[in-house]
This record gives sequence, structure tokens and C-alpha cells, in this order.
Amino acid sequence: MSHVFHRHLSHAYPTAVGGDGAYLIDAEGRRYLDACGGAAVSCLGHSDAEVIEAVREQVGQLAYAHSAFFTTEPMEALADFLIERAPEGLSSVYFVSGGSEAVEAALKLARQYVIERGEPERRHLIARRQSYHGNTLGALATGGNAWRRRQFEPLLVEVSHVSPCYAYRGQAEGETPEAYGERLARELEDEIQRLGSETVMAFVAEPVVGATLGAVPAVPGYFRRVREICDRHGILLILDEVMCGMGRTGSLFAAEQEGVAPDLVTIAKGLGAGYQPIGATLVSERIRSAIAEGSGFFQHGHTYIGHATACAAALAAQRAIESRDLLPRVRQLGDGLQRRLEARFGDHPRVGDIRGRGLFRGLELVADRETRAPFDPERQLHAAIKRTAMDHGLMCYPMGGTLDGRRGDHILLAPPFILEDGQLDEIVDKLDATLRSVL
Ligand code: PLP
Repeated sequence: MSHVFHRHLSHAYPTAVGGDGAYLIDAEGRRYLDACGGAAVSCLGHSDAEVIEAVREQVGQLAYAHSAFFTTEPMEALADFLIERAPEGLSSVYFVSGGSEAVEAALKLARQYVIERGEPERRHLIARRQSYHGNTLGALATGGNAWRRRQFEPLLVEVSHVSPCYAYRGQAEGETPEAYGERLARELEDEIQRLGSETVMAFVAEPVVGATLGAVPAVPGYFRRVREICDRHGILLILDEVMCGMGRTGSLFAAEQEGVAPDLVTIAKGLGAGYQPIGATLVSERIRSAIAEGSGFFQHGHTYIGHATACAAALAAQRAIESRDLLPRVRQLGDGLQRRLEARFGDHPRVGDIRGRGLFRGLELVADRETRAPFDPERQLHAAIKRTAMDHGLMCYPMGGTLDGRRGDHILLAPPFILEDGQLDEIVDKLDATLRSVL
């Protein structure tokens, strides 16, 4: 018996012992093509010599220095790198160890900002249903994934949840994408007015919804309308790019494709590319300066803030993405993946929608394509797909239970940016074999 408290306690996991580019290798020597980057993490694959060397060098020089005593070269250099490339208005970076911590920091920065501005009555958060912002209590409360929240509801602070921008299920027949986006923007503004606009602190959203819906981008113009509404009511816009950021959708920040300047942006996963655990919250100048000129101290911290080795790994990973010109490659590979998925599954009776941006793609599975009816919850489709895909040597990220009150299933694909064209075919072939066995 394993003494590890694994998340699935009745499940035997293969032991991963090595990595080779886009493949993970288990103790039996089996190779798994990592078509989901774990959970959209391993954007450079599993054996990147440059990043490995950077980690080695940093550990040899200085593994860690507590941020209450020192700053470090890799932390400063990584912050410079990110801010030089970040959406307009962002001027500093708060480093943490992962996505949930980045979201917690964003929520607390928002709250401290409104206090420092003399608006302590701003305490309400608005987010969207069918969203995921992490599993710590503040982040879980912010997310609208009913399945993940269910057991913990009594521990969660109240957050308002409006409709997600989810055209496949939300856009009405005959409604244009613009009209749909406008309808959602009105819903947000109605909620702000219902709460009292002077009591609302921030609106939180993923630019491209990842784990809960499976790579769902917003309709054009939606985020610009959201930004306008937030500005009109003095509300902060927090974009959670933990999954969709760091090049995953073909631009370093997903917000770039929406043409909006957020007040706070959270990143993690692809930031360290899995070579070290790291996350960050990018902070706009107006928030930084309000706190700097006010109390001068952010009332929130963790032991591993700005961990030197983690920052060195992330800096090496981000420099590698840039110096190897991988973002155009992400767009090209992403288009190639979409084309192949459509060619193979476009007429599949159980595939309702194929969507996404860059190397962030999702397939929505349905019991009936015409009615878009989801599968029976009892089928536990996602578990069977994950297991069967592993048997075929493929890692993909299926999720179930994502529709409000009904089951909904999708498969998320987020392969490494270093993929070769032939590996796109391998993903689609293995996925096809998996779906043939399971559906
Ligand atoms: N935010 C988003 C959008 C995510 O997808 C996730 C994880 O999947 C998180 C936050 C939480 O990140 P972590 O699991 O690193 O705490």
C-alpha cells in the first residue's frame, strides 16, 4: 500500500520515472504522449536542457532566500521580463508558488486597494458560473464550478456568479455573437446594480475558460464591454490566466487577444513550465502606487514568495519560448490541431463542439448532437476516457460535471509548444482509438 495520500485513494497510478520531449515514461518503460501538459503546465515538454541547466546553476549558487530579508537576481530579472511584455498598465509582480495562491493574492490586493483608496464598502466579488480559480477557500469561493464547491459551501464567502461566455450553450438561435456578448454584459451590469455598484470590488474571469468548460474563448468584444462596465463603476478587472496565459493561446497573455488592460492578472502553470512550482500576480500601477503611498505594506505573504530556484526556472522557460520563437509555432500547431480534430471528429455523433485557441483546445462530448443533451452522469465518462487514453499511451484532460445541475463532459488538450507536426496526428489517432473504446 502506498503511504501517499493520493487524490484518488482507490486508484493505482503508474510511476513516472522520466521525460523525453513531449513524452512521459513510466517505470515499466511505457511512453505517454503528453497532450495536456499535465494540466496545461509542461509547455516545453519534459526534458528541456536549457531549463534544467538553469535550475542546476541556481541551486548551486543560491537555492532560496526568504523574501522578508532579501530580493534575488532571478526574482528581479523575471519580474522585469514579465512587465516588459505585459498588457498596458501592469507594473509589478507578486510571486507565489502556484495558481490558487496567485488568485488569493489578487483578491487580497483588490481588497487592500479599495481600503487604501478609502472605499472599504467595496467588498463584493462577481465571477462567472462554470469557472475555476483554484481550490483554496477564497479561490474556490470565486470559482463557479458547482461540483468542486459542493462539499465546502459552508466555508465559502459569498460571491455573485453571472453567466459565463459560452457560445455553444449560451448563444440563442439567431443571435449574433455581438448580441450575445452584449446580453452578457447587460447581465453583469444588472448584477452590479443589484448589489449596489459602490459595494462591488472586482470582477474575476478567465479569458479562455480552461478546466471547467474546456478551452472556451469569449465572443469578440465581450471583454471590452466588461472593461467599460468595470471602469464606469470603479470596479477592478481581474483576469485569471493561470491556465490560458504564458503563450498557451498563441500570445504571451491571453488578454492581448481581447484588447483589454486588466488591473490584476494571475499566471502560473506554464510560467515555470513544470520545472519548478511557481505562480504570480501582475499588479497595475494604480494598485501598486495606492498601496505604496498608503500603508506601504501588503498584508499577505507565504514562505516561498519569489523562490530563487523557481524564478530561475521560470525565467529560463520564458526566455526559451521567446528565443526559439515558439509563439508563432503555438498558433500554427494550434490551427493544425483544430483542423485535424475537425477532420476526424467533426461528424462524430458524440462530439458536439471543437474549440479553443493556440495549443489550448477542447472537445465537448454530448449524448445527442442535435439536442446537445449531455451524457448520463452515472457513466463517469471522464474517468473512463482518462484511463483508456493512458492505456493507448496518451495523456489528455477529460472533465465531467461541469454544467449547472446536469452532467457535462469535455476533453481538454494542451500539448507542449515543442510538438512536431507528426505528433499532432499521433494525438488525434490515440484520441480516436480512445473514444472508439469508450463511447
Ligand atoms: N486558476 C485557473 C484558471 C486554473 O485553471 C487553476 C488550476 O487549474 C487555478 C487557478 C489553480 O491553480 P493551482 O492548481 O496551481 O493552484
